[in-house]
Amino acid sequence: MTTSSPAQLLDGKALSARILDELQQRVSAHLASGGSAPGLATVLVGDDPASHIYVRNKRRACEKVGLNNIHHELPEDLGQDRLLSLIQDLNQDPAVHGILVQLPLPSGFDYDEHEVLAAISPDKDADGFHPLNQGALMQGYRAPIPCTPKGVMRLLDETGLALSGKRAVVVGRSNIVGKPVAMLLLARHMTVTVCHSRTRDLAAEVGNADVVVAAVGVAKLVQGDWIKPGAVVLDVGINRDEEGRLVGDVEFHAAAERAGWITPVPGGVGPMTIAMLLENTLEAAGL
Ligand code: NDP
Repeated sequence: MTTSSPAQLLDGKALSARILDELQQRVSAHLASGGSAPGLATVLVGDDPASHIYVRNKRRACEKVGLNNIHHELPEDLGQDRLLSLIQDLNQDPAVHGILVQLPLPSGFDYDEHEVLAAISPDKDADGFHPLNQGALMQGYRAPIPCTPKGVMRLLDETGLALSGKRAVVVGRSNIVGKPVAMLLLARHMTVTVCHSRTRDLAAEVGNADVVVAAVGVAKLVQGDWIKPGAVVLDVGINRDEEGRLVGDVEFHAAAERAGWITPVPGGVGPMTIAMLLENTLEAAGL
């Protein structure tokens, strides 16, 4: 990859706005030809303020694109059985094409997140977290792809770089971000290293990478001077710094001095996640 300094910005806000416009046009054309609006069910259990903001933003995006949003806001003590029963109802409802259960579920009430995600019909799994869909991703079959990893790949494609044979380092190995991103990079023929809290020399691993994906949740963990000159840096992290500002997992300014391309936080991966959620819902509806 070529060295260029400072880095070009990968603007997730602008790209997601373009994608939402395109989705809106697809929905309009479908409605104009006599179809009905695709439906996304959003299920929010409890009072977590961050979850409320995330769901509100997802609902607003539904409105913008013309999706029908079926929203369920439920008390934290609803209980596993009633939550599973609601999911079964949504699975059966022909007006619902995608189902999103906002995570995390409230702690202290014995919710089993794995059982909840597995109860969602794989065909309506807008978040791509169902174990069958995650297995399909690993085996390379077509299935809903988790939204944040899918958004990361869209941003990476904006660089126009050839990825085959290049080195990627993913920092973080969660089921919702790190592991699926690693699978998607592998499917693009990159040589992929997955790092985590037990990785011995993170600086050395990151320093080898043509593409770095940081999905940790530790402010500025990835230091700017670790970045290989010209590398693509995709920062998934959402953290608050000492002054309460929103920051990623990467030391942005120092990294931008070395990287070829970099995503900002906010305005990078975050907006892409919502665009991909709506895209998954449209795809589930056959649009
Ligand atoms: P998790 O907490 O599930 O996973 C964090 C990962 O980071 C784990 O694999 C952990 O390793 C690893 N890790 C922790 N500390 C270190 C360290 N010091 N060095 C190397 N690796 C470390 O987080 P998520 O994957 O759910 O989310 C990651 C970040 O992305 C968060 O900031 C979250 O808010 C953000 N996020 C943003 C989204 C968006 O739309 N932009 C969507 C989803 C998440 P180990 O497995 O060994 O514990």
